Amino acid sequence: MTLNLEANQTPGLVCAHNHFYSALARGMPAPPRTPHDFPEILKLVWWRLDRALDLDTIYWSAKLGALTAVEAGCTAVIDHHESPNAIEGSLSVIAEACSEVGLRVNCSYGITDRHGPDGAEAGLAENDRFLSEGGRGMVGLHAAFTCEPDTIAAAAELARRHGVGVHVHVAEGEVDTWQKLGGHTDDHWLLVHGVHLPDDHGLSGTIVHNARSNMNNAVGYADPKRFAPDNRVALGTDGIGSDMLDEFRVAYVRAREADVTIGPDLVWGWLENGWYLFPEARHDVVTWDYAVMDPWRLAYTTQVSPTEVEIDGEVVWVDGVSTRVDVGETKAKAAEAAGRLWSKLETIG
Ligand SMILES: [Zn+2]
Repeated sequence: MTLNLEANQTPGLVCAHNHFYSALARGMPAPPRTPHDFPEILKLVWWRLDRALDLDTIYWSAKLGALTAVEAGCTAVIDHHESPNAIEGSLSVIAEACSEVGLRVNCSYGITDRHGPDGAEAGLAENDRFLSEGGRGMVGLHAAFTCEPDTIAAAAELARRHGVGVHVHVAEGEVDTWQKLGGHTDDHWLLVHGVHLPDDHGLSGTIVHNARSNMNNAVGYADPKRFAPDNRVALGTDGIGSDMLDEFRVAYVRAREADVTIGPDLVWGWLENGWYLFPEARHDVVTWDYAVMDPWRLAYTTQVSPTEVEIDGEVVWVDGVSTRVDVGETKAKAAEAAGRLWSKLETIG
């Protein structure tokens, strides 16, 4: 189907890597001490937050995350989830919350050996359960450096069995053992970050670039254009919202900082590659409050918002209001859930 879009319309934008579980993290208590590098950011912030999650806080974080995605004209999100104390059923909770808002979502549970072999087994089982029940998803793997070789092999095998790819963080920081993924990957895989991958890494799949997150964690510049043509490049937010026009602008200025000859068409192409990952989004229609949705203009125009978002033929957002859920009530309940999550977080060392 080809859409005849007006100049102020685009298909639905795709976020190729997100963590809805971080939607309630904004405003959370500071970590016990200031992290000094990326491994410490993981240990002191994210690996404490994920242990505090239960199915209730997962639901409200996903619902808030879904609402803010639609609000920004993003109609499809590829989510990567971890909640080691609430694994079973977690992917269905996320899918349900997104479906209530009308957002398309692809779910995966990030399998890891950080919590021993039982934790890895439970993560594998949750991916298998969700996919077996017909859920839209992939097999999630946290990262090679937190997984035993057998766990990586089992995830790859499970993905093959379900005809999907593996969604995995790759060489985000300098400390990584991405080489362990060699021999397992195929074109369906999502290789997230790739900051410290060499040009000739030999892995197959789409590299997902998360420019803002990488800067926030001071892990370095991925320079994703170096992976073409062997790997397609797409854009994700890594949990910092789902505003893909904003992410495009940040990825663009970061690319310019490294090479001032780069134009916005290259980075806009990375955003468009999201439609290879989530083809249905190409048929969604977003009407914007800006006259000409052209990469050159958008690179330098901030605060562009949708006036209407149509997903799967249904208008789910119009003039700042969801047609599906009460925005004010959802935000209030998400704030209450955030309070519960932060209280629990205080008890986790
Ligand atoms: Zn991530």
